[in-house]
Amino acid sequence: LSRDFDDDNDPGRVRVAVRLRPRNAEDLSEADFADCVELHPELKRLKLRKNNWNSESYRFDEVFTETASQKRVYEVVAKPVVESVLSGYNGTVMAYGQTGTGKTFTLGKLGKDDASERGIMVRAVEDIVANISLASDTVEVSYLQLYMESIQDLLAPEKTNIPINEDPKTGEVSLPGAVTVKVRDLDHFLQLLQIGEANRHAANTKLNTESSRSHAILMVYIRRSVPEIVEDDINSQNMKAKGNFPLVRKSKLLIVDLAGSERLDKSGSEGILLEEAKFINLSLTSLGKCINALAENSPHVPTRDSKLTRLLRDSFGGSARTSLIITIGPSSRHHSETTSTIMFGQRAMKIVNMVKLKEE
Ligand code: ADP
Repeated sequence: LSRDFDDDNDPGRVRVAVRLRPRNAEDLSEADFADCVELHPELKRLKLRKNNWNSESYRFDEVFTETASQKRVYEVVAKPVVESVLSGYNGTVMAYGQTGTGKTFTLGKLGKDDASERGIMVRAVEDIVANISLASDTVEVSYLQLYMESIQDLLAPEKTNIPINEDPKTGEVSLPGAVTVKVRDLDHFLQLLQIGEANRHAANTKLNTESSRSHAILMVYIRRSVPEIVEDDINSQNMKAKGNFPLVRKSKLLIVDLAGSERLDKSGSEGILLEEAKFINLSLTSLGKCINALAENSPHVPTRDSKLTRLLRDSFGGSARTSLIITIGPSSRHHSETTSTIMFGQRAMKIVNMVKLKEE
């Protein structure tokens, strides 16, 4: 499966998949329900409809129908990124789409009662834990929320306004103020994710906002000792004594559940002034600008304009591997949002990055 998703000559291109949510009760209650999209998964294409079917079809790396399983979505979209993170590159998996189209279902679903429902966050950590040696390597996670350009720690919600640190030499982005927890096993991670979800819910209730206006960001840090060097050197004790430590390879995976892509003035957010709406969406707008700049190969990518794009600086573009999953609903009522979501995905399809291995 994943081979197909990878099957071209530019391993660093951003991979973009589309996932259609099944019809929900609201869709089913529409007397005049009409499909907004026509999927051709075998061709990896879809068509949009307004009054008539638009004759143009849009190609993606993968098109998932409403029956696609969580397992298949993970294997196609996220597994290649996880594999590259395991071998030392940074990577990002992001979900973009209108509120209610399945971003959180795709990324954050815990699947407590039914493991087949588990989303990408759980499956990625499961895969990572299964493929490293917890005796010599470490997996640590931070879980954050970004709302109104303030980063809050979802594992320690009293920590707000966490600053972003960028190493001037290496360009490495870090959040020294955020809690990082060493993952013991998958159950431990599930507990952390659940705590994060509860804190996200509580924080949004307190702020009287909806989670759809904030971005949730899971950061998974992996440190692996490079085995060749340790094994080759019989006198590694002596090396240590001389202060000559074995090499450690560091990489990180970001899984980003983006704020709803709908324009705020349409989402029933009464009382929000236009300026405030712009501020709430600053990170999303700025991500869009960066994607356009990268897609056009522009020499200037405005990553400094928002917290989200600053956080993504060393994990999106450059040497990092990225997958984007675009989520859409089936009803033509949301034609304009679905169209703009599809266009966002089409621009991201054009981003090509250079891949190189980095070692500490
Ligand atoms: P978003 O994060 O984009 O706002 P959610 O992930 O919360 O959307 O999804 C909205 C609702 O639709 C939830 O009840 C979710 O369980 C359901 N849903 C979304 N995608 C799917 C899917 N592929 N299969 C079954 N239910 C889904």
